[in-house]
Amino acid sequence: MRRRETLDTFEPYSWEPSSEEIAKSVGLPTKKILRLDLNTSPVAPAFALRSLVRSLTSLRVNEYPDTSYRELRERIAGYTGHEVDGIVPSNGADEGIDIVARVFLEKGMKALASVPTYSYFRIATQLQGAEFVGVKRFPDFQDDIEAILSSIDSKVGVIFLCSPNNPTGNVTDLASIEKICSETDACVVVDEAYFEYSGVSAQPLTESYDNLVIVRTLSKAFGLAGARIGYLLASKETTRLLNKARPPNSLGVINIRLAVYALRHSSYVGRLVGMIARERERVAAGLRKLGLEPLPSSANFLLTRFQDIDADRVYRELLRTGIVLRNLAKSPLTPNCLRVTIGLKKQNDLFLNALSETLDVIRR
Ligand code: PMP
Repeated sequence: MRRRETLDTFEPYSWEPSSEEIAKSVGLPTKKILRLDLNTSPVAPAFALRSLVRSLTSLRVNEYPDTSYRELRERIAGYTGHEVDGIVPSNGADEGIDIVARVFLEKGMKALASVPTYSYFRIATQLQGAEFVGVKRFPDFQDDIEAILSSIDSKVGVIFLCSPNNPTGNVTDLASIEKICSETDACVVVDEAYFEYSGVSAQPLTESYDNLVIVRTLSKAFGLAGARIGYLLASKETTRLLNKARPPNSLGVINIRLAVYALRHSSYVGRLVGMIARERERVAAGLRKLGLEPLPSSANFLLTRFQDIDADRVYRELLRTGIVLRNLAKSPLTPNCLRVTIGLKKQNDLFLNALSETLDVIRR
């Protein structure tokens, strides 16, 4: 079959297996599987779901959504303080990244990203036929801003930053973001999927820099990963460009409604973030007690490098107990590292206990 040449060498996103598949592979019931590999929230917003149930029968699902997503944009504006006409709702942050790539990248162009980072930046870039160039972070995973700046040439259409960064958990300071924005006319993307956990946002810089686009999502701190709601924040000018590449109806009316309810009472997010931050520090202390060195994190996950122990083996042993971590041990930029999502206290205790037993067995 005739197809795009790009796809022949393209390494696609490696989909996470379902909990059912994992359960089957380790011989456990699905309810025993604890997903600490997805960086999602351990709780769904029950109040928003209840409101949705009450309004469900009157929802006009026979009609397309309001293609301008006006009500959703107004709610996002209320939450972020960003102007309504500078907001582009998307089907999750991933679609937001796709929209940016479609606007700013094509064959012959390049995207830079501070690596290791979220893998979808590479995928969205290469699907546009453009070249992906990783700029290595410092050993402590801080962005190498000088290296990023010196890698910029006339072919670079996008510079991807991620703050807090997945999988390392650290933030990029705003002065560095501003420096990059001011020294290039390429589009600077700051993925703030985990913004609520850090409280640090480059959003105010969109007032001064047309080439800055912020990527956000309700998948993480809002507990709505299954509803697929994300958004882009940019200047009005840039939003006009982004809208040229936005699919007309990619958000469903049911999900929009759920997002509107969640955004209407968004104070629950602050409570959850507080709980997760406390648990994150408790888990980090627990890991240190076990002789490990988790990286400082401003997100809802911890990246841990194992020194004298095979991280891949730890991953496999924990999997046998039903606990799923993100295995980054074989990625060249995160050698022998595992990433764990912070859950509820009980879940974190399960993890710490299982890890302690596993390490005992391995060290014996
Ligand atoms: N950006 C980053 C940094 C992420 O970690 C993720 C989720 N893994 C996404 C974007 C995608 O989020 P969404 O569910 O909104 O598509």
